[in-house]
Order: sequence, then C-alpha cells, then structure tokens
Amino acid sequence: MAEEKKIKMWPAIVKAKCPKCRVGNIYATPIYSIFGQKIHTTCPHCGMVYEREPGYFYAAMYISYAFVVAELVTLAVGTSILTGSHNPWLYTLILLSVVGLLAPFNLRYSRVLLLHWLTPGIHYDHELSKDVVTADEVPV
Ligand SMILES: [Zn+2]
Repeated sequence: MAEEKKIKMWPAIVKAKCPKCRVGNIYATPIYSIFGQKIHTTCPHCGMVYEREPGYFYAAMYISYAFVVAELVTLAVGTSILTGSHNPWLYTLILLSVVGLLAPFNLRYSRVLLLHWLTPGIHYDHELSKDVVTADEVPV
C-alpha cells in the first residue's frame, strides 16, 4: 500500500531530495565523498530535470556566497568572544579551515535551496510521491 502522507519540505531539503516528488535523491554521492559530489541529471523517481537550463546552477553561487559570509561572521565573532585574541593569524587559520571544511555543505545546500525555494515553476506534487515502491514490492 502506498503511503498517503504528504512528505514535508524541511526533511526533503535536509536529505537533498527532489523538490517535485521529495522522494528521489538530487545527489548520487554522499556530501563528503573523496570522488566529489555528483548530481543526478534527472530525478531517479519522477524524472524531473534538475539543471533547468544551461548554467542554471551558477545561480547557486549567490546562495553559497551568503552561506560563506554568514559562516565567516559567525566564526569571527565566536572566535573573538571565546579567545579575546587580536592575532590575525588565529582568525585566518580558524576561518579558512572551517570554511574549507564546510565547502561541500555549501555546494550541496546552495543547489538544494535553489531548486526548492528560488526556482519559479517547481512545486511539490503529492501525486508523484505516492507511488513509492519499496524494495520488497519490486516485481522480479
Ligand atoms: Zn522527483
């Protein structure tokens, strides 16, 4: 029996699911993979094309930029409060290393937010998420 419950938006965003069906994965690889992050060209569940037009994901750079600015300001203020230091090398080391560690997160979620929130014409379709086939229901 197919699940009748609607899939909520926030879990779909956190799990990087398709904005249209909220079932298929946007990414084919985990967030921290040594081979980099590979995005599916289409949703494996509903077939929605993720890259709406050539260069579509360049718009995600603006979201990623906002993420980095928020991270840098938070880290700088937090470092200042916690250490009270005025040593610029301490700030440089902490800010660059943390932002470097968060780069895969920024890449992934800037694209996910672009797809879920900032692209006109993409809306959740409850009907597309109904026919979820679990592993034990797959015909042989
Ligand atoms: Zn989908």
